[in-house]
Amino acid sequence: MTRPDRYAVFGHPIKHSQSPRIHALFAAQTGQDLIYTAEDVPPERFESQVREFFDGGGRGLNCTVPLKELAWRLADSRSERAERARAVNTLALRDDGSVFGDNTDGIGLLRDLRDNLGLNLAGARILILGAGGATRGILAPLLAERPARLVIANRTVATAETLAAEFGDLGPVEGCGFAALAGHRFDLILNATAASLSGELPPLPADALAPGGSCYDLAYASEPTPFARWGREKHAVVSADGIGMLVEQAAEAFLLWRGVRPETRPVIETLEAERRAAK
Ligand code: NDP
Repeated sequence: MTRPDRYAVFGHPIKHSQSPRIHALFAAQTGQDLIYTAEDVPPERFESQVREFFDGGGRGLNCTVPLKELAWRLADSRSERAERARAVNTLALRDDGSVFGDNTDGIGLLRDLRDNLGLNLAGARILILGAGGATRGILAPLLAERPARLVIANRTVATAETLAAEFGDLGPVEGCGFAALAGHRFDLILNATAASLSGELPPLPADALAPGGSCYDLAYASEPTPFARWGREKHAVVSADGIGMLVEQAAEAFLLWRGVRPETRPVIETLEAERRAAK
């Protein structure tokens, strides 16, 4: 009897990860025989745990906060999008024993914004709050949609400016601090700060959202995040959190590992129904 292929997500902390649930739903939907677990792996044990996992027959890993840059370093080869982001969220064991690194966060966000939520990014004025690893992963795919302008606002201004300079060859991207947002309006505001995780709202001006604009929080929680609530108060056409992005980036990883792309919509609907039932 053959044993199911093994996959896992490594992160620190990892307790509330939805990834095992998502991949179990994908496996059931596509008839794939696999096991996917969540492992708490601190940065100092990352490399040895990855080697142990693959030496022990594991086929693929997702890596989340704070391990994405370490995963980028560890990979023997990487996709172009991972190279650009300098961050890896998906590792796959190749037949020759080498480890391939990819970054599926950007395409995951884009699929959710464009295909699931029906937002048109071409010509839009986009504001990204935060300049951490997640912002690195989403800049290239967002700029490929040809927005009119893309502003990165961050608490540490220099980080936003450096990031904007690094991606400036791909489109009209600027970096600044929150105070410099006064008087500017945006059609889409993305919250890519870690503020939601501590129940905080980034300090953005009350009138930053243009009429008819939308808000998207990359973070997700059982309750609406402070930023998702802010969007609703400001009459955003769409004010969503990052559960759709999480499912979409997972689908892309599943495709890389298994060669099959699962349908994401029923999985997003299942997770949303479970979230409503848990209230
Ligand atoms: P990082 O730790 O790399 O970056 C955190 C960013 O948040 C930095 O820009 C930091 O600013 C800023 N920040 C932290 N706390 C505050 C605060 N209280 N007020 C304002 N700014 C703050 O995290 P990631 O980029 O990896 O993740 C960011 C968010 O995106 C997280 O909530 C994560 O869960 C979510 N995410 C969701 C995904 C999904 O699939 N839905 C995928 C990836 C990420 P500074 O530079 O000044 O410290």
